[in-house]
Amino acid sequence: MEKREELYRGKAKTVFLTDDADKLILHFRNDTSAFDGEKIEQLDRKGEVNNKFNHFIMSKLEEAGIDTQVESLLSDNDSLVKKLDMIPVECVVRNVAAGSLVKRLGVEEGTVLNPPVFEFFLKNDALHDPMINDYHIMSFGWATEGQVEQMKALTFKVNEVLSGLFDEGGMMLVDYKLEFGVDSQGRIVLGDEFTPDGCRLWDKATRNKMDKDRFRQGLGSVVETYIEVAKRLGLEL
Ligand code: ADP
Ligand code: UDP
Repeated sequence: MEKREELYRGKAKTVFLTDDADKLILHFRNDTSAFDGEKIEQLDRKGEVNNKFNHFIMSKLEEAGIDTQVESLLSDNDSLVKKLDMIPVECVVRNVAAGSLVKRLGVEEGTVLNPPVFEFFLKNDALHDPMINDYHIMSFGWATEGQVEQMKALTFKVNEVLSGLFDEGGMMLVDYKLEFGVDSQGRIVLGDEFTPDGCRLWDKATRNKMDKDRFRQGLGSVVETYIEVAKRLGLEL
């Protein structure tokens, strides 16, 4: 597989074309950003840890019957993935209240949400990723009604699979963000990444934060904690 020109440089990953028109290389960098890119730091080994973590999780989701971008792990920081036409929305499921939900609704952090809450956000840093609903997505043509329903159903299916996986490792999956795209055959496929950068994980016993909130809140030991999360899932990094 040959790496060709850079297609896009995001806040944490760089996307490269390859000699196969249907495949891309995701290069995971050490850059770690928060607050719409206002806080950015390079954290040693973060790119490698997230690349391998993402490959591990996406492979578990594939095993559970969810279509993902996963092709293969190419190197420490690179993964080969299916090229998707990304839908510019973020799909968030919350099992426990935290983050922006707590600020927006004034509810107590840690409140268990039953049923889990689903939210859509528009992927647009300049507008600070505003919350949107199904109608915005359909009316502006970002996705069809069928695709909206599929994104919701798949995001909840991911919740079933991963809540169980993290629970076995003594962690609570508090919330997470997924991004979907359309593949060359028109199917909705899970893209981007699932790593501790895009979810909240709490230790079940101590409620210790084991995700990017460590970076957002300056709690320290960010990458070390991501490695501990991986270890608890059976992945040695
Ligand atoms: P951001 O764009 O939010 O700063 P990243 O640094 O993670 O994020 O950049 C990765 C970019 O690549 C994102 O815009 C994401 O939507 C896109 N992307 C992720 N997976 C795929 C894929 N399989 N096919 C095409 N684009 C993808
Ligand atoms: N999230 C993300 N990227 C975003 C926005 C949110 O990965 O651009 C994740 C975030 O890490 C958390 C979940 O989505 O796990 C819900 O985030 P929230 O709306 O609480 O926003 P935050 O306060 O984290 O910005």
